[in-house]
Amino acid sequence: MNIGESKVVSIHYTLTNDAGEVLDSSDGKDPLVYLHGAGNIVIGLENALENKVTGDSLKVVVEPEEAYGERREELVQQAPINAFEGVDDLQVGMRFQAETEQGAIPIMVTHIEGDAVTVDANHELAGVRLHFDVTVENVREASPEELEHGHAH
Ligand code: ZN
Repeated sequence: MNIGESKVVSIHYTLTNDAGEVLDSSDGKDPLVYLHGAGNIVIGLENALENKVTGDSLKVVVEPEEAYGERREELVQQAPINAFEGVDDLQVGMRFQAETEQGAIPIMVTHIEGDAVTVDANHELAGVRLHFDVTVENVREASPEELEHGHAH
């Protein structure tokens, strides 16, 4: 069975960056199961998997525009340290949900200098070229319920 619309696909994958550092992997875990054509995975990888079959292995390089987008410098902002009151021992690398007019967005503290805290709301993989090493483990028809929900069960 070929991968296409309305198929549920299981893959094992390793994701690395340009430097070859492993960013994520299903190694030693269950395979990733997703509904093809529903935008459950980055579009560049989904397109590359089209028509593949169980047992196929492929290496896919996905540019940021087909993954998590380019970094946007306007998403890097400064906040006064008293905006974090109640947080013990605020440190670089801590993640928070910022309440905005568009709803809650995840942010990460990237710099602290005196009373000024720099926070970054970019996705951590924004601007990163993704290198996927993928093996197709299984392909099956999606159930009506999965199609209705837009994800694999
Ligand atoms: Zn569901």
